[in-house]
Parts: sequence; structure tokens; C-alpha cells
Amino acid sequence: MSGELHEECGVFGISAEGEDVARLTHAAILWLQHRGQESAGIATSDGQEIRLQKQDGRVDHFTEEQMVMLTGKNPLAMMAIGHNRYSNTGGNIYENFQPFVVQTSLTPLALAHNGNLVNPDAIAKKLKDLGVTPQGSSDSELIALLIAAESQNASSIEKAIELTIKQLVGAYSLVIMTKDQLIGVRDPWGIRPLSLGRLNDHHYLLASETCAIEAVGGSLFRDLEPGEMVVIDKGAEPRFSQILPKQCKKLCIFEFIYFASPGSIMYNRLLQTARRHMGEMLWKEFPLKIDNPDEWVVGGVPNTGLPAAQGFAEASGLEFRNIIVKNPYVFRTFIQPDQRLRKLGVKAKLLPLPREVMKKKVILVEDSIVRGNTSGEIIEMLRKAGAKEVHMMISSPPYIHRCYMGVDTQYSSELIAAQKSIEEIRQFIKADSLSYLSLPGLIAAINKEKYEEPIPPGSFCDACFTGKYPFPIPQEEGRFELSA
Ligand code: SF4
Repeated sequence: MSGELHEECGVFGISAEGEDVARLTHAAILWLQHRGQESAGIATSDGQEIRLQKQDGRVDHFTEEQMVMLTGKNPLAMMAIGHNRYSNTGGNIYENFQPFVVQTSLTPLALAHNGNLVNPDAIAKKLKDLGVTPQGSSDSELIALLIAAESQNASSIEKAIELTIKQLVGAYSLVIMTKDQLIGVRDPWGIRPLSLGRLNDHHYLLASETCAIEAVGGSLFRDLEPGEMVVIDKGAEPRFSQILPKQCKKLCIFEFIYFASPGSIMYNRLLQTARRHMGEMLWKEFPLKIDNPDEWVVGGVPNTGLPAAQGFAEASGLEFRNIIVKNPYVFRTFIQPDQRLRKLGVKAKLLPLPREVMKKKVILVEDSIVRGNTSGEIIEMLRKAGAKEVHMMISSPPYIHRCYMGVDTQYSSELIAAQKSIEEIRQFIKADSLSYLSLPGLIAAINKEKYEEPIPPGSFCDACFTGKYPFPIPQEEGRFELSA
């Protein structure tokens, strides 16, 4: 993906008395950095108080002073949670950075959220009626404040969370920490991922992705089920409860295509392998006529297009090469305002290699096309680098419908596949050919792992391809109304 779609956060939690949980959390959320780079935060508990540090920008901007402030006099605090943020709801202001720490009537509480509510107005109105004013404009803060409000009617924080969850509509994977409990909750469809891991047999971790669990020496225990809550009390085994009726699983299929790390495991599949199978399936669906293999080269748009490009090359017998180099130090460019400057923004990130593409027919594999501008600019750069032809292969179906579940997509009017036919998109990006993997082909590729059980049909949210959302949403382009 060339940076046109953005995930909306990564969450992590650890309960490990006797370990340096702040530094372990820092290490873990470094591995979730791809899920959001606008702010990062860590909260710790030593059993007495919750400490919080959060800031603008990436996780590696944390300083030693901040790490010391998180641990206080006791470097081996008991629990910690961490968060990486990409702002979808609410702007990139300090008041929206996570985790949120609130005082409930039972305990102080820190909360980190990945997802997006579709009924924030209803929650905000309820809080307003109770005289509660949020400091920022994020739906995640509303969840924390609602738990605090509900704690006045509840006998335990678990009950307050349960009362809160019943009022939420949307996608949420939550990691919550009190002074002495770590709690994870997943929405009834399981749209955003949340896994439980184990460390040294008796410590527990929660993370958006398994790569963060493995990064700190843990191993996957199991994924949380849709609508499930897990509570980890100090030194105890996890307690699971189904707090909302489980709906059909609807994990975001874009986690497989693009968002999540290739080193993460979802539905028991290593995403790197699943993406390679998507490339193999592209060749199966679109076997090009190849007279002289030496004329051709297969490459991917780094980094997320690379595994599918490798799969395509393996299946076709054509040579795979790294034809574009990505600058690993460009996280954000501020040059966006017009077409000329946008091109410079792409060039700041991606460098085509003339010696790899000169006089070649290039098969360029990419995971998706959102607006089409970036793809067009990459193809133009490859032609200038000497490519004779550029055939674009997309390892997912056309992205037609807006996401309401935590991914920062444009309105449909800005999604090129909602406005143009595939042939019109090909002309717009100036490719010699353009092919998209079919939805059945995508599912078959994910299911191709021969050692694993097939994933039951309907286990993915695929609404951006099909328009079939997991729950009712208002008419396109409008504001949400509470749907349930
Ligand atoms: S609409 Fe698309 S991006 Fe959004 S949750 Fe569903 S599959 Fe993921």
C-alpha cells in the first residue's frame, strides 16, 4: 500500500509483577508502530497508583526521563498498557492521545482503544446529561468516561465495563487497566484484532497483533472471541466471560491484506504466507501471455506489496526483483497540497531502480488502490526509469465503499473504484493492464494454508468491497444515527 489507507491504532497490555513492564510495553508498541504514528502512550500501575506518559509522534520519541517517570521508585511495576494512535475520530491534539486515565468511583482506570464507534453522538449526549464533559474529541475518551459514569451504578469495574459495552455500537478492541487488574474486551463482531499471550507461564499480555506478544518473549495463548471480556487479576489465571452475544465473526479482511505486520498470526495464519498466496492466486486468475520470460520482471510496491509479488513470481516462474526501494526514514511528508508537490512526496518515500527495470516489462504488485494518485505516480516513475510496460496487479478487490470501523478512508466520492470502471482506472494510472484479485480468490488465498482448518465462510468484514457492513449504518456521506 502506498500510504493511502491508515489503520486507527494499536493496543497492548501486560500483567507481569516483577518485570519492567514499562520497558516491555515500549518494546511491544514499537512492533505495533505501523498501526499509528500520530501519538504514543504508556500507563503503568504498581498496585497503588497509575502513572501516564503520552506524546505526539512515534514510540521511539519516548525519552529515558519518561520511562523513569512511568516506573517511579519501583522499576518493576505490576502492569502497563500502551497505545499507538492514528487519528480518525478527533484531531491530533494532546487531549485525544491515549491511554486515557479516568477516576471511577471504584478505582482509577486507564483505557486504550482500537476501532471506531458509530454512535458517539448518543454516548456524548448521555454523558452531557450526566454533567460529564470530555476534554478532547475522541470516541475512545467517551468510552472511558462512560465506564466511570457507570461505575456509580456498579458493584465492580467489570460490571461497569459490561454496562458500558452494551451501549456501544461499532468496532472496538479495548485494553483496560485498573490499579490491579488488566482487562481486554472485543466488540461482538471481532472487527479489530485482539490476542491474549502468555509470558514465562504465569504472566499475561494483550495485543492488537501477535508480533507485539512475541517481541517481548511471549507466545500466543488465544485470540479473544467477539463480545468476550478477559480479566487478569494479579498473579491469577485469566477469567473469560461472554459479556455480549457473539455475532458472526467479522475480522477486518484488510488486516490480512495490508494493515497488520506480515509477522503476525491471525486465524492461525501467518500473514506473510497469506499475502504470498494472494500473489499466487493473482497469477492463477490472470495468467499473462509470456513469450520471453527474460523480458519480464515482477516487483512489489514496498513494503506491503512485496509478499504478494513474491507469490506471483513463484507461481508464474518469472523473476522477482526489488525494483523499488523505500526510504525507511520517511514517516510523514508535509508536501501534499498540489499534484506537483504530491509527486515529490511519493519520491521522498519511493525510489525506482532503473537498472532493474530498464527495457523490461514490469509486473507491479500492490495490495490496493484507494485514490489512484500514488499508483499513477509510481507507474510514471517506473516508465521514466526505463520500464517498457507496467502491468499492475492488485492483491485485493476494488475498494469501493467507505470504512466506518476504524480505518481512515475517504468518502466514496474520493475512492477511485467507486467512481470509475477498472478500465477507466487503468487509463487514469496509465498502466498497460490492471487486474484485481477477486473476493473468492482472496478468501481462497487466505485459506490456502494446508496445515490449518478452513476459516468458516463469512468470517471477515469485507464491506469496503461489498458494501455489506456488519451492522446498520446511515446513508453514505451522512452522520451516524444510533442503529440499535
Ligand atoms: S470496511 Fe474494509 S477496512 Fe473497514 S473494517 Fe471492513 S474490511 Fe476492514
